[in-house]
Amino acid sequence: MKKAIGIILSLIMIMNITACGAQNEKKRYEAEFLLLFDTVTRIVAYTESKDEFTKYAELIHDKLEEYHQLYDIYHDYEGINNVKTINDHAGISPVKVDRKIIDLLLFSKEAYELTGGKVNVAFGSVLKIWHDYRTEGIEDPEKAKLPSSEELQEAAKHTDIHNMIIDEKASTVYLSDPDMRLDVGAVAKGYATEQVSEYAMEQGFRSGLLSVGGNVRAIGTKGDSDALWNVGIQNPDKESKQSNLYVANITDLSLVTSGTYERYYSVNGVNYHHIIDPETLFPAQYFTAVTIVTHDSGLADALSTAIFNMPVEQGKKLIESMPDTEALWIFQDGTTAMSTGFPEFIKE
Ligand code: ADP
Ligand code: MG
Repeated sequence: MKKAIGIILSLIMIMNITACGAQNEKKRYEAEFLLLFDTVTRIVAYTESKDEFTKYAELIHDKLEEYHQLYDIYHDYEGINNVKTINDHAGISPVKVDRKIIDLLLFSKEAYELTGGKVNVAFGSVLKIWHDYRTEGIEDPEKAKLPSSEELQEAAKHTDIHNMIIDEKASTVYLSDPDMRLDVGAVAKGYATEQVSEYAMEQGFRSGLLSVGGNVRAIGTKGDSDALWNVGIQNPDKESKQSNLYVANITDLSLVTSGTYERYYSVNGVNYHHIIDPETLFPAQYFTAVTIVTHDSGLADALSTAIFNMPVEQGKKLIESMPDTEALWIFQDGTTAMSTGFPEFIKE
């Protein structure tokens, strides 16, 4: 049923936006899906025909939906063991899962090591507390409350990623701490975006921009031209008339932003967003947004969350140590900092 809705939505929303340019044989098409990863997915692509575009849009939709179901921590799907199933069996038994889950979790472990634990998929017990308070606070703003440090510290005892036991051979995952929970929100969208982009390329997709809730992956250039893709970097100051702070120009790269304005709730007039510093167990206070540009969308997503959780000096050190990886930091006063290679992406 859900799939049918997705496809219908996609078909309704496919539009031929512009006529072709003289030097460009291909036309620009666009599609939007609203039911994946709790966000808006947008595909822009240059193809020879509408049929060709529809073929790729459906293929991307169906693959993304598969990843969405496997990586879901809130819902069950008939006949599928997903990340929620692993959580539901914490301290009980290993769960046999699709290789796509094993690969995501192995990747997440690497991201944990790389960032000194600043992005931790085993942080679910703490994140669940924030998620529940936020949901209640949004539903009934007058009663919005903050979790207590005691409650958070108690949950933080159950966030050791080494208790996530992956048996690659048996294709199982076991959480040996019964109170531990996985939350793959910081990495799953980007990881899936990367895998689906690579899959689409294998199927012949050559020219497109895939955005899963702002998790952007550029494939090739615009049609047969040399024109790069333009990706707006949102101004965290939503009151400002300037909606984009910068426009980045990219090809065969990912651009991913983590920001305070994406998901938050207010308590006594103060906003509390959704990226939690593992050290303080409270929303990280260093920046309003961090943007990462690197080839792999999964890495970009993991880094955007991790870099958001560390002081700028520490983040710069990490980014500068990584090849072909750049970052933009936006501070609370609106000023910015960039890694050495970031200015090259900025238009004008
Ligand atoms: P987006 O909402 O755009 O996906 P992020 O990639 O930064 O933004 O992911 C934020 C999500 O990651 C949160 O909603 C939460 O599920 C999870 N998260 C928050 N803090 C951490 C953390 N320190 N380690 C791992 N996951 C986190
Ligand atoms: Mg992220």
